[in-house]
Amino acid sequence: MIIMKKILILGSTGSIGTSALELIRNNREEYQVVAISGNRNIELLKKQIEEFKPLAIYVGAEEEAIKIKNEYSFIEDIYFGENGLAELAKNSDYDIILTAVSGAIGIDATVEAIKREKRIALANKETMVSAGTYINRLLKEYPKAEIIPVDSEHSALFQSLQGFKKENVKKLIITASGGTFRGKNLEVLENVTVEEALKHPNWSMGKKITIDSSTLVNKGLEVIEAHELFNVPYDDIEVVVHPQSIIHSMVEYVDGSIIAQMGVPSMKTPILYAFSYPKKEFNASIDFLDLIKTKTLTFEEADRKVFKGIDLAYRAGRTGETMPTVFNAANEVAVELFMKKKIKFLDIYRIIEEAMDNHNLISLDTDEALSIIKEVDKETRRKVREQWER
Ligand code: NDP
Ligand code: MG
Repeated sequence: MIIMKKILILGSTGSIGTSALELIRNNREEYQVVAISGNRNIELLKKQIEEFKPLAIYVGAEEEAIKIKNEYSFIEDIYFGENGLAELAKNSDYDIILTAVSGAIGIDATVEAIKREKRIALANKETMVSAGTYINRLLKEYPKAEIIPVDSEHSALFQSLQGFKKENVKKLIITASGGTFRGKNLEVLENVTVEEALKHPNWSMGKKITIDSSTLVNKGLEVIEAHELFNVPYDDIEVVVHPQSIIHSMVEYVDGSIIAQMGVPSMKTPILYAFSYPKKEFNASIDFLDLIKTKTLTFEEADRKVFKGIDLAYRAGRTGETMPTVFNAANEVAVELFMKKKIKFLDIYRIIEEAMDNHNLISLDTDEALSIIKEVDKETRRKVREQWER
């Protein structure tokens, strides 16, 4: 007998959210969408509501939420505003929550899902970067809660760790496509445009993460995310540029074996794995890799002098405490300002570095850790805006 899994999707109108719904569309016997959330893209949200008939929804604006409730009689609960995502995660009836909103706004909903000991299919890496110390402490308090990574590198690491002993791991090797500007020097990068930065060679993703990929801040976020998810020291986490994006990451063991996870660059496989783990499941919407057509896999060192996003992240991660929160918050605002054409590409690194230089570290070894993280997040955003928003 198939037991239906009830799925809540935070960020259903985004790139990850729509991929998840495509998977579910192809397996309606096993998955039921109980709640979805959008923000600005009301048109798409309504299409999703009509197709999947969720019982609860979130949208940013209250008036939109009310209009939607009046339009669709099967919707029982609506959520909106600042605490709406967390309330949705706190009150809905679900088995798995896919966190696919972009940015640290996903923290509270993840916290609520952990407290209810749910499975969290975690795409929202900023939550793990900004609040990883607190999240890990909370996971110890609620041992039945589980986080299954959706970020492709972390899904690859998670899969490559299955069946082996953690103490036999030598290092985690995170692959990077190198982003849109791979091979470019600082003179070129000084004047690159938003439009150029938004053209990713291999992956089609939301705008924020596409900019993060072009600065390699995304890879930096992923190094911190890996440290928090797998509890591996920073010295044992390495980044390797692999332009084809076929190997999604690897684990090297003490006996010299490297276990890698490969596939086409599509987020459907990692989302599906987070839904079906520990099973591997077929889905008609999955694309399969043709190795003969793939032909070559190459590897090279990342240019960390030009793409400072990686080293800034290692620095934030090694410093620990509230520094990863600052790294993430400064980057989120910097990316937003870059997209609004208020700053230049390389200012993104300047903003992150300055925010970190000026931050007075606060210990998170306290019951107040979550409120400290939120305060530091807010304060970092305020300072960056004050200085750079013109
Ligand atoms: P998108 O920008 O495509 O989607 C973001 C989603 O969040 C949309 O549903 C959007 O709603 C919603 N949203 C945006 N702002 C708010 C807000 N203030 N309040 C509530 N909801 C909001 O992002 P992606 O799908 O690309 O990424 C989602 C997360 O997954 C990110 O953390 C990213 O780092 C991570 N990730 C993404 C990958 C990818 O391939 N895309 C790969 C690995 C990780 P609306 O559009 O309706 O405004
Ligand atoms: Mg990734």
